[in-house]
Amino acid sequence: MNKTTQNMKDICIQLLNDRGVTIDDIIDIVYDLQKKYVPTLTRDVCGEAIDRVLGKREVQNAILTGIELDTLAEKNLLSEPLQSLISNDNPLYGIDEILVLSICNVYGSIGLTNFGYVDKVKPGIIGKLDAMGKATNKCHTFMDDIIGAVAAAAASSVAHNAEED
Ligand code: MG
Repeated sequence: MNKTTQNMKDICIQLLNDRGVTIDDIIDIVYDLQKKYVPTLTRDVCGEAIDRVLGKREVQNAILTGIELDTLAEKNLLSEPLQSLISNDNPLYGIDEILVLSICNVYGSIGLTNFGYVDKVKPGIIGKLDAMGKATNKCHTFMDDIIGAVAAAAASSVAHNAEED
């Protein structure tokens, strides 16, 4: 892994933390998604999978872009009509889900199935982000999808690795 990619990963982890999400929160989701398929699964294995996902350039680019837009919307710095679409988490906007497809697909199409599931069920921190985004002046329009997609891709990576064992 080259130095820029390493720095980018650290920057992304810091950004996620600043927006209220720890790696442990993501591990909770990945573990729940995969424990029924991989009986020997540990939280460490889930953490390693998340680390692999966060090491990918396309994942880092999606995280940087989505969090920037959420943050600008919180500060009212976007132009209309985009400002209202993002700050109100308008259900017809849809670009938040599209942006994170680049994350879902890094370990193949089962990432997409996992993403669909977490997007619907909103487990753990994803539900909290969603509720906070709706009830407070925080904007998590992109953030909930970013976390769901990272968890979905990591779950796919866990599944692929378990198959190789
Ligand atoms: Mg969203």
